[in-house]
Amino acid sequence: MLFSELPLANPLQRAVRAVGYEQPTPIQEKSIPSLLEGKDLLGIAQTGTGKTAAFALPILQLLLDSGKFRAPKTCRALILLPTRELAIQVEECFKQYAQFTAISTACIFGGVSDVSQKRNLIRGVDVLVATPGRLLDLINQKAVSLKALEFFVLDEADRMLDMGFIHDIRKVVALLPQNRQNLFFSATMPEDITKLAATILRPNPVRVEVAPQSTPIERIHQELYRIDKRRKGALLKELLLAHPEMKKVLVFSRTKHGADKITRVLEKAGVKCAAIHGNKSQNRRQEALGNFKTEQIRVLVATDIAARGIDVDDVSHVFNYDLPDVPETFVHRIGRTARAGKDGIAISFCAPDEEQDLRAIEKLTRINIPEGDKSIFEKLPPPQKETPESEMRNARGRGFPRHGNPHENRHNDRRENRGGVKPEKQGSAPQQSAPKAQNKQKHEKRPAAKPEGVPQMNPQNQEGRRTIGKNRPGSRARKRMREAAAKAAAAKQNI
Ligand code: AMP
Repeated sequence: MLFSELPLANPLQRAVRAVGYEQPTPIQEKSIPSLLEGKDLLGIAQTGTGKTAAFALPILQLLLDSGKFRAPKTCRALILLPTRELAIQVEECFKQYAQFTAISTACIFGGVSDVSQKRNLIRGVDVLVATPGRLLDLINQKAVSLKALEFFVLDEADRMLDMGFIHDIRKVVALLPQNRQNLFFSATMPEDITKLAATILRPNPVRVEVAPQSTPIERIHQELYRIDKRRKGALLKELLLAHPEMKKVLVFSRTKHGADKITRVLEKAGVKCAAIHGNKSQNRRQEALGNFKTEQIRVLVATDIAARGIDVDDVSHVFNYDLPDVPETFVHRIGRTARAGKDGIAISFCAPDEEQDLRAIEKLTRINIPEGDKSIFEKLPPPQKETPESEMRNARGRGFPRHGNPHENRHNDRRENRGGVKPEKQGSAPQQSAPKAQNKQKHEKRPAAKPEGVPQMNPQNQEGRRTIGKNRPGSRARKRMREAAAKAAAAKQNI
Protein backbone atom coordinates (compact mmCIF):
# COMPACT_ATOMS: atom_id res chain seq x y z
CA MET A 1 0.00 0.00 0.00
CA LEU A 2 1.11 3.55 -0.67
CA PHE A 3 0.26 6.66 1.33
CA SER A 4 -1.31 8.11 -1.78
CA GLU A 5 -3.97 5.35 -1.55
CA LEU A 6 -5.08 6.52 1.90
CA PRO A 7 -7.99 8.98 1.98
CA LEU A 8 -5.89 11.86 3.28
CA ALA A 9 -6.32 15.44 2.06
CA ASN A 10 -3.75 17.00 -0.23
CA PRO A 11 -1.98 19.11 2.41
CA LEU A 12 -1.41 15.95 4.46
CA GLN A 13 -0.28 13.92 1.44
CA ARG A 14 2.18 16.71 0.64
CA ALA A 15 3.48 16.72 4.19
CA VAL A 16 3.93 12.94 4.17
CA ARG A 17 5.95 13.25 0.98
CA ALA A 18 7.95 16.10 2.49
CA VAL A 19 8.98 13.95 5.48
CA GLY A 20 9.92 11.17 3.08
CA TYR A 21 7.35 8.48 3.87
CA GLU A 22 6.23 6.37 0.93
CA GLN A 23 4.51 3.37 2.40
CA PRO A 24 2.54 3.33 5.63
CA THR A 25 4.02 1.12 8.35
CA PRO A 26 1.81 -1.81 9.49
CA ILE A 27 0.32 0.16 12.39
CA GLN A 28 -0.45 3.07 10.09
CA GLU A 29 -2.02 0.81 7.51
CA LYS A 30 -4.20 -0.85 10.14
CA SER A 31 -5.14 2.23 12.18
CA ILE A 32 -5.62 5.11 9.77
CA PRO A 33 -8.74 3.79 7.93
CA SER A 34 -10.57 2.86 11.19
CA LEU A 35 -9.70 6.14 12.83
CA LEU A 36 -10.95 8.05 9.82
CA GLU A 37 -14.27 6.26 10.34
CA GLY A 38 -14.43 7.77 13.82
CA LYS A 39 -13.74 4.55 15.75
CA ASP A 40 -11.90 4.31 19.05
CA LEU A 41 -8.59 2.50 18.92
CA LEU A 42 -6.53 0.35 21.25
CA GLY A 43 -3.00 0.22 19.87
CA ILE A 44 -0.41 -2.18 21.25
CA ALA A 45 2.79 -0.92 19.78
CA GLN A 46 6.28 0.07 20.73
CA THR A 47 7.93 3.32 19.70
CA GLY A 48 9.66 2.98 16.39
CA THR A 49 6.64 1.42 14.71
CA GLY A 50 5.39 4.71 13.28
CA LYS A 51 2.53 4.99 15.76
CA THR A 52 2.75 8.78 16.00
CA ALA A 53 1.81 9.22 12.34
CA ALA A 54 -0.75 6.43 12.80
CA PHE A 55 -2.76 8.66 15.12
CA ALA A 56 -1.61 12.13 14.04
CA LEU A 57 -2.56 11.88 10.37
CA PRO A 58 -6.18 10.75 10.87
CA ILE A 59 -6.69 13.26 13.69
CA LEU A 60 -5.45 16.06 11.45
CA GLN A 61 -7.69 14.83 8.64
CA LEU A 62 -10.75 14.77 10.92
CA LEU A 63 -9.93 18.19 12.34
CA LEU A 64 -9.78 19.53 8.80
CA ASP A 65 -13.03 17.80 7.87
CA SER A 66 -15.08 18.91 10.88
CA GLY A 67 -15.21 22.57 9.83
CA LYS A 68 -15.18 23.63 13.51
CA PHE A 69 -12.83 26.30 14.80
CA ARG A 70 -10.82 26.40 18.01
CA ALA A 71 -12.29 28.51 20.82
CA PRO A 72 -10.09 30.59 23.18
CA LYS A 73 -8.36 28.61 25.94
CA THR A 74 -9.54 25.26 24.59
CA CYS A 75 -8.06 22.47 22.52
CA ARG A 76 -9.73 20.15 20.04
CA ALA A 77 -7.32 17.23 20.31
CA LEU A 78 -5.35 16.31 23.42
CA ILE A 79 -2.35 13.99 23.31
CA LEU A 80 -1.22 12.93 26.78
CA LEU A 81 2.34 11.63 27.19
CA PRO A 82 4.49 10.75 30.18
CA THR A 83 7.62 12.80 29.48
CA ARG A 84 8.64 16.19 28.20
CA GLU A 85 10.86 14.78 25.49
CA LEU A 86 8.07 12.63 24.13
CA ALA A 87 5.67 15.56 24.26
CA ILE A 88 8.11 17.78 22.36
CA GLN A 89 8.71 15.09 19.75
CA VAL A 90 5.07 14.31 19.20
CA GLU A 91 4.29 18.00 18.81
CA GLU A 92 7.13 18.23 16.28
CA CYS A 93 5.53 15.38 14.31
CA PHE A 94 2.14 17.10 14.37
CA LYS A 95 3.78 20.31 13.19
CA GLN A 96 5.48 18.49 10.33
CA TYR A 97 2.34 16.70 9.22
CA ALA A 98 0.25 19.89 9.57
CA GLN A 99 2.78 22.18 7.90
CA PHE A 100 0.57 22.82 4.85
CA THR A 101 -2.60 23.40 6.89
CA ALA A 102 -3.77 26.13 9.27
CA ILE A 103 -3.97 23.70 12.17
CA SER A 104 -2.28 25.01 15.30
CA THR A 105 -0.39 23.02 17.91
CA ALA A 106 0.98 23.65 21.40
CA CYS A 107 3.03 21.65 23.84
CA ILE A 108 2.92 21.92 27.61
CA PHE A 109 5.12 20.15 30.15
CA GLY A 110 6.53 20.72 33.62
CA GLY A 111 9.99 21.73 34.73
CA VAL A 112 9.91 25.07 32.94
CA SER A 113 8.05 28.34 33.39
CA ASP A 114 4.40 28.16 32.38
CA VAL A 115 4.22 31.77 31.17
CA SER A 116 4.77 31.17 27.46
CA GLN A 117 2.72 27.97 27.59
CA LYS A 118 -0.25 29.91 28.97
CA ARG A 119 0.26 32.60 26.36
CA ASN A 120 0.11 29.98 23.58
CA LEU A 121 -3.23 28.76 24.90
CA ILE A 122 -5.01 32.13 25.07
CA ARG A 123 -6.45 31.89 21.56
CA GLY A 124 -7.00 28.15 21.84
CA VAL A 125 -5.18 25.42 19.88
CA ASP A 126 -6.28 22.60 17.64
CA VAL A 127 -3.79 20.05 18.96
CA LEU A 128 -2.47 20.18 22.50
CA VAL A 129 0.35 17.81 23.45
CA ALA A 130 0.80 17.62 27.21
CA THR A 131 2.25 15.83 30.17
CA PRO A 132 -0.37 15.17 32.87
CA GLY A 133 0.97 17.28 35.76
CA ARG A 134 1.35 20.53 33.84
CA LEU A 135 -1.96 20.01 32.06
CA LEU A 136 -3.82 19.74 35.37
CA ASP A 137 -1.90 22.75 36.63
CA LEU A 138 -2.98 24.89 33.71
CA ILE A 139 -6.55 23.60 33.90
CA ASN A 140 -6.62 24.63 37.59
CA GLN A 141 -5.30 28.04 36.60
CA LYS A 142 -8.07 28.25 34.00
CA ALA A 143 -5.49 28.70 31.26
CA VAL A 144 -7.09 25.87 29.30
CA SER A 145 -10.32 23.89 29.37
CA LEU A 146 -11.09 20.48 27.90
CA LYS A 147 -14.78 21.15 27.35
CA ALA A 148 -14.45 21.42 23.55
CA LEU A 149 -12.29 18.33 23.15
CA GLU A 150 -13.00 16.09 20.16
CA PHE A 151 -10.03 13.67 20.26
CA PHE A 152 -8.22 12.19 23.22
CA VAL A 153 -4.99 10.21 22.82
CA LEU A 154 -3.31 8.47 25.74
CA ASP A 155 0.12 7.40 24.54
CA GLU A 156 2.68 5.21 26.33
CA ALA A 157 0.03 4.17 28.84
CA ASP A 158 2.21 1.51 30.49
CA ARG A 159 4.92 4.08 31.15
CA MET A 160 2.36 6.50 32.51
CA LEU A 161 1.37 3.95 35.12
CA ASP A 162 4.97 3.08 35.94
CA MET A 163 5.64 6.71 36.60
CA GLY A 164 2.71 7.02 38.98
CA PHE A 165 0.48 9.11 36.72
CA ILE A 166 -2.64 7.02 37.23
CA HIS A 167 -4.39 9.55 39.48
CA ASP A 168 -3.55 12.43 37.18
CA ILE A 169 -4.88 10.46 34.21
CA ARG A 170 -8.13 9.73 36.05
CA LYS A 171 -8.48 13.42 36.88
CA VAL A 172 -7.95 14.39 33.25
CA VAL A 173 -10.39 11.75 31.98
CA ALA A 174 -13.03 13.02 34.43
CA LEU A 175 -12.77 16.43 32.78
CA LEU A 176 -13.27 15.19 29.22
CA PRO A 177 -16.59 15.65 27.43
CA GLN A 178 -18.60 12.45 26.84
CA ASN A 179 -18.70 12.80 23.08
CA ARG A 180 -15.15 12.23 21.88
CA GLN A 181 -12.99 9.82 19.91
CA ASN A 182 -10.40 7.98 22.01
CA LEU A 183 -7.06 6.45 21.11
CA PHE A 184 -5.10 4.43 23.64
CA PHE A 185 -1.55 3.25 23.00
CA SER A 186 0.66 1.04 25.13
CA ALA A 187 3.68 -1.14 24.42
CA THR A 188 2.43 -3.78 26.83
CA MET A 189 -1.04 -4.71 28.04
CA PRO A 190 -0.87 -6.03 31.59
CA GLU A 191 -4.12 -6.21 33.53
CA ASP A 192 -4.02 -2.73 35.05
CA ILE A 193 -3.52 -1.16 31.62
CA THR A 194 -6.41 -3.16 30.18
CA LYS A 195 -8.61 -1.91 33.03
CA LEU A 196 -7.52 1.68 32.44
CA ALA A 197 -8.21 1.36 28.71
CA ALA A 198 -11.72 0.15 29.48
CA THR A 199 -12.43 3.34 31.45
CA ILE A 200 -11.36 5.54 28.54
CA LEU A 201 -12.36 3.80 25.32
CA ARG A 202 -15.91 3.36 24.09
CA PRO A 203 -17.08 -0.29 23.88
CA ASN A 204 -15.61 -2.44 21.08
CA PRO A 205 -12.66 -0.31 20.05
CA VAL A 206 -10.57 -1.40 17.09
CA ARG A 207 -7.61 -3.33 18.43
CA VAL A 208 -4.35 -3.03 16.56
CA GLU A 209 -1.30 -4.97 17.66
CA VAL A 210 1.82 -4.58 15.61
CA ALA A 211 4.40 -6.50 17.58
CA PRO A 212 3.70 -9.40 19.90
CA GLN A 213 3.67 -8.25 23.50
CA SER A 214 7.09 -8.06 25.09
CA THR A 215 8.92 -9.53 22.10
CA PRO A 216 12.09 -7.74 21.14
CA ILE A 217 12.66 -6.74 17.59
CA GLU A 218 14.23 -9.80 15.95
CA ARG A 219 16.46 -7.75 13.73
CA ILE A 220 18.54 -6.66 16.69
CA HIS A 221 21.84 -8.48 16.93
CA GLN A 222 22.62 -9.04 20.59
CA GLU A 223 25.82 -9.67 22.52
CA LEU A 224 26.48 -10.29 26.17
CA TYR A 225 29.59 -9.57 28.22
CA ARG A 226 29.82 -11.07 31.69
CA ILE A 227 31.90 -8.55 33.62
CA ASP A 228 32.38 -7.43 37.19
CA LYS A 229 30.83 -4.06 37.98
CA ARG A 230 34.09 -2.22 38.51
CA ARG A 231 35.39 -2.95 35.02
CA LYS A 232 32.24 -2.11 33.08
CA GLY A 233 33.51 1.41 32.35
CA ALA A 234 36.81 0.07 31.02
CA LEU A 235 34.99 -2.51 28.89
CA LEU A 236 32.68 0.11 27.39
CA LYS A 237 35.64 2.36 26.67
CA GLU A 238 37.64 -0.45 25.01
CA LEU A 239 34.68 -1.57 22.90
CA LEU A 240 34.13 1.99 21.69
CA LEU A 241 37.81 2.45 20.91
CA ALA A 242 38.02 -0.90 19.11
CA HIS A 243 34.87 -0.37 17.03
CA PRO A 244 34.75 2.94 15.19
CA GLU A 245 31.61 1.70 13.42
CA MET A 246 29.78 2.29 16.72
CA LYS A 247 28.73 5.74 15.61
CA LYS A 248 25.50 6.57 17.38
CA VAL A 249 25.58 4.80 20.70
CA LEU A 250 22.96 4.91 23.41
CA VAL A 251 24.13 3.67 26.82
CA PHE A 252 21.61 2.83 29.52
CA SER A 253 22.57 3.35 33.12
CA ARG A 254 20.48 2.26 36.07
CA THR A 255 21.13 5.47 37.99
CA LYS A 256 21.70 9.17 37.40
CA HIS A 257 24.96 9.05 39.34
CA GLY A 258 26.04 6.05 37.26
CA ALA A 259 25.26 7.91 34.03
CA ASP A 260 27.50 10.80 35.09
CA LYS A 261 30.26 8.38 36.04
CA ILE A 262 30.13 6.70 32.63
CA THR A 263 30.43 10.02 30.83
CA ARG A 264 33.47 10.92 32.95
CA VAL A 265 35.20 7.65 31.97
CA LEU A 266 34.40 8.16 28.29
CA GLU A 267 35.36 11.83 28.24
CA LYS A 268 38.71 10.89 29.76
CA ALA A 269 39.21 8.46 26.88
CA GLY A 270 38.40 11.19 24.35
CA VAL A 271 34.96 9.82 23.43
CA LYS A 272 32.47 12.61 22.79
CA CYS A 273 29.47 11.97 24.97
CA ALA A 274 26.78 13.46 27.19
CA ALA A 275 24.35 12.23 29.81
CA ILE A 276 20.64 12.89 30.11
CA HIS A 277 18.73 12.25 33.30
CA GLY A 278 16.39 13.90 35.75
CA ASN A 279 19.07 16.01 37.43
CA LYS A 280 19.94 17.78 34.20
CA SER A 281 18.01 20.87 33.26
CA GLN A 282 15.55 20.71 30.40
CA ASN A 283 17.87 22.87 28.26
CA ARG A 284 20.90 20.67 28.94
CA ARG A 285 18.90 17.59 28.02
CA GLN A 286 17.58 19.08 24.82
CA GLU A 287 21.08 20.22 23.94
CA ALA A 288 22.53 16.74 24.57
CA LEU A 289 19.75 15.12 22.55
CA GLY A 290 20.25 17.62 19.72
CA ASN A 291 24.00 16.98 19.65
CA PHE A 292 23.39 13.25 19.61
CA LYS A 293 20.89 13.49 16.76
CA THR A 294 23.30 15.55 14.68
CA GLU A 295 26.17 13.21 15.62
CA GLN A 296 28.21 15.94 17.30
CA ILE A 297 28.54 13.50 20.16
CA ARG A 298 28.99 9.79 19.65
CA VAL A 299 27.55 8.45 22.90
CA LEU A 300 24.45 9.44 24.82
CA VAL A 301 24.22 7.99 28.32
CA ALA A 302 20.68 7.88 29.65
CA THR A 303 18.59 6.55 32.49
CA ASP A 304 15.44 4.68 31.49
CA ILE A 305 13.05 7.46 32.30
CA ALA A 306 15.04 10.15 30.51
CA ALA A 307 15.40 7.84 27.52
CA ARG A 308 11.65 7.47 27.16
CA GLY A 309 11.60 10.60 25.10
CA ILE A 310 14.41 9.70 22.80
CA ASP A 311 13.34 9.36 19.22
CA VAL A 312 16.60 9.30 17.34
CA ASP A 313 16.89 7.69 13.97
CA ASP A 314 19.82 5.41 13.20
CA VAL A 315 20.93 4.55 16.74
CA SER A 316 23.60 2.02 15.76
CA HIS A 317 24.22 0.45 19.16
CA VAL A 318 22.39 0.23 22.46
CA PHE A 319 24.45 -0.69 25.51
CA ASN A 320 22.81 -2.06 28.62
CA TYR A 321 25.58 -0.92 30.93
CA ASP A 322 23.41 -2.13 33.79
CA LEU A 323 20.68 -4.66 33.25
CA PRO A 324 17.24 -3.38 34.21
CA ASP A 325 15.36 -4.93 37.14
CA VAL A 326 12.27 -5.32 35.02
CA PRO A 327 12.71 -7.39 31.85
CA GLU A 328 10.16 -5.39 29.83
CA THR A 329 12.43 -2.37 30.26
CA PHE A 330 15.14 -4.29 28.43
CA VAL A 331 12.79 -4.71 25.48
CA HIS A 332 12.04 -0.98 25.47
CA ARG A 333 15.73 -0.17 25.65
CA ILE A 334 16.94 -2.32 22.79
CA GLY A 335 13.98 -1.15 20.71
CA ARG A 336 15.82 2.17 20.44
CA THR A 337 17.96 0.65 17.73
CA ALA A 338 16.83 -1.21 14.59
CA ARG A 339 14.10 1.36 14.00
CA ALA A 340 12.34 2.17 10.74
CA GLY A 341 13.49 -1.02 9.01
CA LYS A 342 17.15 -0.69 9.98
CA ASP A 343 19.35 -3.23 11.74
CA GLY A 344 20.80 -2.59 15.15
CA ILE A 345 23.08 -4.03 17.78
CA ALA A 346 22.38 -4.32 21.50
CA ILE A 347 25.25 -5.10 23.85
CA SER A 348 24.56 -6.01 27.45
CA PHE A 349 26.92 -6.08 30.41
CA CYS A 350 26.05 -8.53 33.15
CA ALA A 351 27.75 -8.36 36.56
CA PRO A 352 27.60 -11.42 38.83
CA ASP A 353 24.75 -9.94 40.85
CA GLU A 354 22.75 -9.27 37.69
CA GLU A 355 22.54 -12.92 36.61
CA GLN A 356 19.01 -13.10 37.98
CA ASP A 357 17.99 -10.10 35.85
CA LEU A 358 19.60 -11.73 32.83
CA ARG A 359 17.67 -14.94 33.36
CA ALA A 360 14.41 -12.98 33.58
CA ILE A 361 15.25 -11.11 30.36
CA GLU A 362 16.15 -14.29 28.50
CA LYS A 363 12.98 -15.96 29.73
CA LEU A 364 10.79 -13.07 28.61
CA THR A 365 12.44 -12.64 25.22
CA ARG A 366 12.96 -16.38 24.69
CA ILE A 367 16.46 -15.57 23.46
CA ASN A 368 19.73 -16.79 24.92
CA ILE A 369 21.93 -13.80 24.37
CA PRO A 370 25.22 -15.00 22.85
CA GLU A 371 28.46 -13.92 24.51
CA GLY A 372 30.55 -11.28 22.71
CA ASP A 373 34.18 -11.51 21.60
CA LYS A 374 36.13 -12.37 24.74
CA SER A 375 39.47 -11.16 23.35
CA ILE A 376 38.47 -7.65 24.44
CA PHE A 377 39.02 -8.73 28.07
CA GLU A 378 42.77 -8.89 27.36
CA LYS A 379 42.75 -5.11 27.10
CA LEU A 380 41.12 -4.66 30.50
CA PRO A 381 42.80 -4.34 33.87
CA PRO A 382 42.58 -7.50 36.00
CA PRO A 383 39.44 -7.81 38.12
CA GLN A 384 39.61 -6.26 41.56
CA LYS A 385 38.18 -7.89 44.62
CA GLU A 386 34.99 -6.28 45.86
CA THR A 387 35.27 -4.58 49.23
CA PRO A 388 32.33 -4.32 51.64
CA GLU A 389 32.18 -0.60 50.76
CA SER A 390 32.05 -1.23 47.02
CA GLU A 391 29.39 -3.88 47.57
CA MET A 392 27.31 -1.34 49.45
CA ARG A 393 27.84 1.23 46.69
CA ASN A 394 26.72 -1.32 44.12
CA ALA A 395 23.71 -2.13 46.22
CA ARG A 396 22.70 1.53 46.22
CA GLY A 397 23.01 1.58 42.48
CA ARG A 398 20.44 -1.16 42.40
CA GLY A 399 17.84 1.11 43.89
CA PHE A 400 18.62 0.86 47.60
CA PRO A 401 18.15 3.98 49.59
CA ARG A 402 21.15 5.49 51.26
CA HIS A 403 19.57 5.86 54.66
CA GLY A 404 17.76 2.65 55.04
CA ASN A 405 14.22 3.75 54.23
CA PRO A 406 13.03 1.48 51.45
CA HIS A 407 10.41 4.04 50.39
CA GLU A 408 12.79 6.97 50.19
CA ASN A 409 13.57 6.67 46.50
CA ARG A 410 9.92 6.31 45.63
CA HIS A 411 9.01 9.51 47.44
CA ASN A 412 11.87 11.35 45.84
CA ASP A 413 10.55 10.20 42.51
CA ARG A 414 7.11 11.63 43.28
CA ARG A 415 8.65 14.87 44.49
CA GLU A 416 10.70 15.22 41.34
CA ASN A 417 7.63 14.43 39.36
CA ARG A 418 5.51 17.11 41.02
CA GLY A 419 8.23 19.69 40.79
CA GLY A 420 8.43 19.12 37.08
CA VAL A 421 11.80 17.44 37.26
CA LYS A 422 11.80 14.02 35.74
CA PRO A 423 11.41 11.05 38.03
CA GLU A 424 14.05 8.41 37.74
CA LYS A 425 12.05 5.32 38.53
CA GLN A 426 13.36 2.55 36.40
CA GLY A 427 11.47 0.06 34.35
CA SER A 428 7.93 -1.15 34.30
CA ALA A 429 6.22 -3.61 36.52
CA PRO A 430 3.32 -5.17 34.77
CA GLN A 431 0.82 -7.29 36.67
CA GLN A 432 1.27 -5.33 39.86
CA SER A 433 1.75 -1.77 40.95
CA ALA A 434 5.21 -0.40 40.28
CA PRO A 435 6.17 0.52 43.85
CA LYS A 436 5.11 -2.93 45.02
CA ALA A 437 7.18 -4.63 42.37
CA GLN A 438 10.14 -2.40 43.02
CA ASN A 439 10.11 -3.02 46.71
CA LYS A 440 9.87 -6.74 46.04
CA GLN A 441 12.91 -6.52 43.81
CA LYS A 442 14.81 -4.40 46.27
CA HIS A 443 14.36 -6.97 48.96
CA GLU A 444 14.94 -9.94 46.71
CA LYS A 445 18.11 -8.67 45.17
CA ARG A 446 19.95 -7.14 48.05
CA PRO A 447 23.45 -8.52 47.68
CA ALA A 448 25.63 -9.86 50.44
CA ALA A 449 27.69 -7.13 52.05
CA LYS A 450 29.93 -9.49 53.94
CA PRO A 451 33.47 -9.74 52.61
CA GLU A 452 34.75 -13.13 51.64
CA GLY A 453 36.61 -14.99 54.36
CA VAL A 454 34.58 -13.60 57.25
CA PRO A 455 33.05 -16.55 59.07
CA GLN A 456 29.34 -16.60 58.55
CA MET A 457 27.57 -16.82 61.88
CA ASN A 458 24.14 -17.29 60.40
CA PRO A 459 22.93 -17.70 56.86
CA GLN A 460 20.13 -15.22 57.62
CA ASN A 461 22.74 -12.62 58.34
CA GLN A 462 24.20 -12.28 54.86
CA GLU A 463 23.20 -8.66 54.56
CA GLY A 464 25.21 -7.39 57.49
CA ARG A 465 21.99 -6.78 59.41
CA ARG A 466 21.51 -7.70 63.03
CA THR A 467 19.43 -10.82 63.20
CA ILE A 468 16.68 -10.86 65.76
CA GLY A 469 14.10 -13.19 67.21
CA LYS A 470 13.98 -16.74 65.97
CA ASN A 471 16.53 -16.13 63.21
CA ARG A 472 19.22 -15.44 65.78
CA PRO A 473 21.28 -18.52 66.59
CA GLY A 474 20.67 -19.91 70.06
CA SER A 475 23.35 -19.63 72.73
CA ARG A 476 24.37 -23.27 72.23
CA ALA A 477 24.78 -22.80 68.53
CA ARG A 478 26.80 -19.64 69.13
CA LYS A 479 28.98 -21.53 71.61
CA ARG A 480 29.55 -24.31 69.05
CA MET A 481 30.54 -21.73 66.44
CA ARG A 482 32.96 -20.03 68.84
CA GLU A 483 34.50 -23.39 69.67
CA ALA A 484 34.83 -24.30 65.98
CA ALA A 485 36.47 -20.94 65.25
CA ALA A 486 38.91 -21.40 68.16
CA LYS A 487 39.75 -24.92 66.94
CA ALA A 488 40.38 -23.65 63.41
CA ALA A 489 42.63 -20.88 64.75
CA ALA A 490 44.60 -23.39 66.87
CA ALA A 491 44.99 -25.74 63.90
CA LYS A 492 46.29 -22.82 61.82
CA GLN A 493 48.90 -21.97 64.51
CA ASN A 494 50.08 -25.57 64.58
CA ILE A 495 50.64 -25.47 60.82
P1 AMP B 1 7.29 6.51 16.00
O1 AMP B 1 7.03 5.07 16.28
O2 AMP B 1 6.05 7.26 15.72
O3 AMP B 1 8.12 7.13 17.08
O4 AMP B 1 8.15 6.60 14.63
C1 AMP B 1 9.44 6.11 14.54
C2 AMP B 1 10.18 6.68 13.35
O5 AMP B 1 9.66 6.16 12.13
C3 AMP B 1 10.13 8.19 13.23
O6 AMP B 1 11.44 8.66 12.97
C4 AMP B 1 9.23 8.45 12.04
O7 AMP B 1 9.59 9.63 11.37
C5 AMP B 1 9.47 7.22 11.18
N1 AMP B 1 8.30 6.86 10.35
C6 AMP B 1 7.00 6.86 10.74
N2 AMP B 1 6.22 6.44 9.74
C7 AMP B 1 7.02 6.15 8.69
C8 AMP B 1 6.79 5.67 7.36
N3 AMP B 1 5.58 5.39 6.92
N4 AMP B 1 7.87 5.50 6.56
C9 AMP B 1 9.11 5.78 7.02
N5 AMP B 1 9.39 6.23 8.25
C10 AMP B 1 8.36 6.41 9.09
